[in-house]
Amino acid sequence: MKQKTLLLLVLFGLQVWLPMKALAQFDNYFTESSLRVDYVLTGNNKTTTFSLKELIHEPYWSGSKTNLIDDLEFGNYIVKVFEAGTDHLLFSKGYQNLYGEWTSTPEALKLTKSFEESVVVPFPKAKIDIALYRKTWENELVEGMRLTVNPDDYFIRDYDNLGLPVYDAWIGNKDITHAVDIVILPEGYTQAEMGKFIKDCDFFVKSLFDYAPYDRYRESFNVRGLMVPSEESGCTMPGDHIYKNTAMRFSFWTFDSERYCMSTDNRDIRDLAGQVPYDQIYILVNTEKYGGGGIYNFYCSSASSNSFSGDVIIHEFGHGFAGLADEYYNDETGYDHMYNLAVEPWEPNITSLVDFSGKWGDMLDKKTPVPTPREKKYEQTIGVFEGGGYEPKGMYSPHMDCLMKTFKGHEFCPVCQRAIERMILYYSK
Ligand SMILES: [Zn+2]
Repeated sequence: MKQKTLLLLVLFGLQVWLPMKALAQFDNYFTESSLRVDYVLTGNNKTTTFSLKELIHEPYWSGSKTNLIDDLEFGNYIVKVFEAGTDHLLFSKGYQNLYGEWTSTPEALKLTKSFEESVVVPFPKAKIDIALYRKTWENELVEGMRLTVNPDDYFIRDYDNLGLPVYDAWIGNKDITHAVDIVILPEGYTQAEMGKFIKDCDFFVKSLFDYAPYDRYRESFNVRGLMVPSEESGCTMPGDHIYKNTAMRFSFWTFDSERYCMSTDNRDIRDLAGQVPYDQIYILVNTEKYGGGGIYNFYCSSASSNSFSGDVIIHEFGHGFAGLADEYYNDETGYDHMYNLAVEPWEPNITSLVDFSGKWGDMLDKKTPVPTPREKKYEQTIGVFEGGGYEPKGMYSPHMDCLMKTFKGHEFCPVCQRAIERMILYYSK
């Protein structure tokens, strides 16, 4: 009995001690603010080069102070921070980007392009080395850029706070390092339409908490809208010869896919977002046209006023926040092949069966056949169904339907729900 008590004490003590140790690590090396690294990716289907653009000192660090090392390593890109001149890893985070998607389009076979993007890390107290890595088509991790940053360097630009009004659409936890902080940026709302933007922020919050598992974690989210007016109302639609002067220059027909609505104006997006604490950037586009987009730890966008908007908003957030893949496979996209079927994709809700371990094998009933036939009797079963990630053959998904596939069922499959829940806990613990 005594031994049991002692064991319990030791276990309990360990649980307290581990976060305390991680907190001490954060306080030893980092401040409460963040360092944004703006850089450019240039390349095509064959080659990629990284080049530095600017370093910016932003006012908030809203990420976790205890989960500093990203052991999920989702995304084809990873940023790592080391104590300068050593291999002592202090921080890491996986992400995706628009450039990576573009290299899967036919255009990248014949053209070289540049895309600007950013990584945000906690602002250091002493010199650090920052390294950026990219996974190749064969899934090898290649270092693309490494730089030493001295926090006293006067070339680090101080963030220019624009002082825009903020709408607190939902504050579940005032402690930003224990919450998922979402900043909503308005695209194509004029000054006169800011009232509509506030209503659309409320609609975003209502939509988010309409879905499991978000409904169980209201206290883990903060949603802030930043009141950025655009000169003109609406959005650029090149296929219809409509061009609008808007705050962040979003455009439908991205990669020549009509409903894909993205922007390459990274600096404008980031300069706006930095005014409030953020882990995720969401752009609401003031239009009734169906569309949007979402890239893991990059940004999400969605049309605000379409009859499917609630579903689109949360589907895209599945990509941007939890790294979920599309589970559909017979739909037209602008991509040739997004996935190399000879390697296991990093997304938690698809598998090429090259390495199924670490996916959803533990959620499968032993009696369920693998692969699982797409038959009515398996409609409510977690399985391994062929088709997913835009590939009808050689890629598999966990359920016959899911919000990452269609809007019929109005819910995420159990595998996607678990992936979302894990990500919420990653940010909030
Ligand atoms: Zn799913």
